[in-house]
Amino acid sequence: MPIGVFSSQVLQESIQDKRPRKKSLTNDIEKHCHIEIAAQVSQISSRQNAIILLIDGNHELYHLEGLMEGPAMDGDGECFPSILLNATSLNTEAYYNKAVNYTLMVTFMSFLQVLLLIRQMEHSNTQSGAAKVSILMIGQQAIMDAYLCLLNLTAGILVESLFNAFATAAFFKFVVFSIFEMRYLLAIWKASRPLQNGESWEIMRRELSVLYSRFYGILLGGILLLYHLHNFLRPVIFIMYSFWIPQIVTNVIRDTRKPLHPYYIIGMSVTRLAIPFYIFGCPSNFLRIEVDNYWCICLGVFLGLQSLILLLQHYFGSRWFIPRQMLPEKYCYYRKFESYASQATDCVICMTTIDFTENSNRYMVTPCDHCFHSVCLQRWMDIKMECPTCRRALPPA
Ligand SMILES: [Zn+2]
Ligand SMILES: [Zn+2]
Repeated sequence: MPIGVFSSQVLQESIQDKRPRKKSLTNDIEKHCHIEIAAQVSQISSRQNAIILLIDGNHELYHLEGLMEGPAMDGDGECFPSILLNATSLNTEAYYNKAVNYTLMVTFMSFLQVLLLIRQMEHSNTQSGAAKVSILMIGQQAIMDAYLCLLNLTAGILVESLFNAFATAAFFKFVVFSIFEMRYLLAIWKASRPLQNGESWEIMRRELSVLYSRFYGILLGGILLLYHLHNFLRPVIFIMYSFWIPQIVTNVIRDTRKPLHPYYIIGMSVTRLAIPFYIFGCPSNFLRIEVDNYWCICLGVFLGLQSLILLLQHYFGSRWFIPRQMLPEKYCYYRKFESYASQATDCVICMTTIDFTENSNRYMVTPCDHCFHSVCLQRWMDIKMECPTCRRALPPA
């Protein structure tokens, strides 16, 4: 084991070599203090070598461990308490490359998220389509993206030489949350809010500003909360990644049909897992956070389960996992249309006659006793949940 004992002179030289700007400070130290360092420098790689101090550009890793002592009461009093040294050399070039790769990954994932959001917005571009989407689900994702944007921007400011790379990643995250998710949030809010007649634009604008201030209030409050909870980062991320749950609950309560596009569900789950998997699961990540595979698997399973439930709701109906007995009585559109069975009735949507002698699945009867073709009414209900003839509200199909 190579053991080195250095006097203050040695320390001063090595510091001056690396950071000439701090010369005045070390000179001050030299005036009053006599510092002793007892440190052990060991090479991390397997090759055996003599003591080599931390040299920039050297591609092998070194570890330094030891104690720095300034003897007490040297004229003006104590200069230094004892300081434990524990340092690992860093290959800055490889480190920077890693960080750049990370920002490229974030940029690419954000780009994919933009495409997925466009796909989803097309999927629910009607009023009743947007009303089916949970505003909490989009809001939670928007807040997560806002935090990622801020974190990347902060990283860019801290590591000046990587500002461009981090700023690009932050900019893409900014586009995702401020343009797409906020716009979608607005569309959902507008769709879920019943329009009242004779309502002035003034009231609407006031409610809108309440919505915005609530979003930014939660954002700012969250930053303060996260600052205090930084020791519990992993549980906090776990809570943040429950963003599909509001949609699952909304689906069950309102019994909505296909609110989300399957691509959006799968794509968002995968792209959102990329960053935590990189940070907590990649052994050579640039943040040098300890790998925690168990936590990564838990997070993946947690999000995977949520998206699986959503996908099953998409294909088998929103309440597939709730036993039929527990469900409230549901209106059946395929009931017998008795009263006027003898008369020929027109479907007001497509203006052709409905043939009652056919299979009863071919026509639907509303609670207000109006009859339509099943295909016509289902297409109509995707846009509006009111009867085409008398405009009374329709129960979910
Ligand atoms: Zn029809
Ligand atoms: Zn009607």
